Amino acid sequence: MPASAVFPASPAVTLAHTILHDIFGYSAFRGHQQAAIECVVGGGDALVLMPTGSGKSLCYQIPAIARQRLGKGIAVVVSPLIALMHDQVGALHEAGVEAAFLNSTLSGPEAGEVEQRLLRGEITLLYAAPERVTNARFLALVDSLYERGQLSLFAIDEAHCVSQWGHDFRPEYRGLTVLHERFPNTPRIALTATADALTRSDIVERLQLQGAQQFVSSFDRPNIRYKIVEKNDPRKQLLRFIDTEHMGEAGIVYCQSRKRVEEVADMLCEHGLRALPYHAGLDRAVRQKNQDAFLRSDTTTGEPVIMVATIAFGMGIDKPDVRFVAHLDMPKNIEGYYQETGRAGRDGEPANAWMCYGLQDVVNQRRMIDESPADETYKQVMRGKLDALLALAEATECRRGRLLAYFDQKGDGEGAASYRCNNCDNCLSPAATWDATDAARKAISCIYRVQQASGISFGAGHLIDILRGKATDKVAQFNHSTLSTFGIGAEFGEQQWRSVLRQLIALGIVHVNPEAFNTLQLTASAREFLRSEQKILVRETTAETTSGARKSAANKLSKEKATANMNLGARERFAALKAWRAEVAKEHNLPAYVIFHDATLASIANQAPQSLQELSGISGMGTKKLDAYGQEVLRLVAQLSTA
Ligand code: ADP
Ligand code: ZN
Repeated sequence: MPASAVFPASPAVTLAHTILHDIFGYSAFRGHQQAAIECVVGGGDALVLMPTGSGKSLCYQIPAIARQRLGKGIAVVVSPLIALMHDQVGALHEAGVEAAFLNSTLSGPEAGEVEQRLLRGEITLLYAAPERVTNARFLALVDSLYERGQLSLFAIDEAHCVSQWGHDFRPEYRGLTVLHERFPNTPRIALTATADALTRSDIVERLQLQGAQQFVSSFDRPNIRYKIVEKNDPRKQLLRFIDTEHMGEAGIVYCQSRKRVEEVADMLCEHGLRALPYHAGLDRAVRQKNQDAFLRSDTTTGEPVIMVATIAFGMGIDKPDVRFVAHLDMPKNIEGYYQETGRAGRDGEPANAWMCYGLQDVVNQRRMIDESPADETYKQVMRGKLDALLALAEATECRRGRLLAYFDQKGDGEGAASYRCNNCDNCLSPAATWDATDAARKAISCIYRVQQASGISFGAGHLIDILRGKATDKVAQFNHSTLSTFGIGAEFGEQQWRSVLRQLIALGIVHVNPEAFNTLQLTASAREFLRSEQKILVRETTAETTSGARKSAANKLSKEKATANMNLGARERFAALKAWRAEVAKEHNLPAYVIFHDATLASIANQAPQSLQELSGISGMGTKKLDAYGQEVLRLVAQLSTA
């Protein structure tokens, strides 16, 4: 029984439900949506943390619509996503909501027109970038709304951008303190999909949200399968991953550098895949073109696009059917990893988050931190965050348990260590591990001896050669074959040594010195480790290369396609509806999912409604869409049902 049957709903909640149903065509709120909406409609401040795809937009869109109906005027949405504002506003228009944006893509007269509409009260939601919101002309405009009691709400989207501890700091966000200083009586709602405890408290402080109610959902994305493999031949590994699991599907491949983005995109194209590059070095027009191609590609009608990108790509991307996110290089921290992988599977269908990483990634990330111009405290925090990601990559237990523990949510409450999700590589095919305690001790002693004998330190490659007793030129040059540690680790292969060293770096026992050619040095923890009983377990290194193909075939996601349970007639209707949707989307210059989601079309295909009344009961069918498209949809369905 719904709670409303027992307790009469507040007027705010009743209004919110009406809007949810009439405008968006949905029958019930999810998770914290209702509570957050109730808070803001009532004039309170809110901080909303909900994972990607869980419906954050409604948390500010419904209050904006509700408060306008209550005579409170216009909502301003602060968002860094200039390249997506056109589609966001287009989606609201499709639902019959008056929205507009002000950003640098508009000409002077176009912006002036928006300002006029704003002052005439013809707009419900106004999207603007933070640098716009804090400029004098804009503030004067908002002043005049405020004075007339026509400023209903500020929504601050992607609120983690305000924090330097977050993975996407935007200095312009700092200026947003002006909002509550200048407009103290206007409610504010800040939203983000990713923030660990530190970032969260920083958001509260920076945006002065101490008085805000917090709505924090579970960070779990159960339909995403996590898999982290050791890097040996990344391009081949990526091709095999796409080949065995994602042929004909849309995905994102993240790389560290612009150069690598270009190379990998070319490589995928050479293999007959439709891949496009995206990075900050490309012209804005090219970036927008590639992004639009990605968002508008309709994999169900045969246009899969793989976006190969740096982290410049992806914030706010709401394409529902991204089936995989692959990392060819390791991100900076768990927040980055979680945010990027979170772009997969927004539609709730199975999706893969795949990463390959190696010793070089660890070395590079350390170096970037050490060489950054930031102060020591900042570097210390960043090192800690990187270490947490390394620990995730090296983990032999459930990846999801680790991720949730990082965000302070211990899986099912049993504690991270015993948590099993059954949808990550470690749960599905438990990693074979070997006891590397002895090897670790040998490595430590080797680093120590080499440093002592030569007075300088060396990189991983040379240290491994010494451990394995290889007579290289460098060994001869430094006379390292005379060391007592020369050849003491011949029983282990190079890959094994690399994983041991990675573990030691992950544990903070070995330090990578960027000022001395990334050489490895012992830290104070090395002595502690040698004195302790601490065991080091390392995952077997060969799994991916030798049995990888077989394993991934066995682990292949069992995809319950929307069409799986459809009869022949429904399937035909579904195909016809999709073809029709593609036409409409093209005409309106919007992505297809903005017109109707696959799930909505699938319900129509299955139920074959014969009247507007029947059609209006389908999830995702709001009043405006029913008006605009209802007759056409019914005609399509009728044609195919009688044929
Ligand atoms: P995010 O939290 O990533 O911003 P969105 O706001 O884009 O997520 O929502 C994800 C999808 O879920 C959207 O297509 C939205 O229409 C849909 N959605 C949101 N809330 C509901 C609901 N209460 N019932 C059904 N669908 C919903
Ligand atoms: Zn798991």
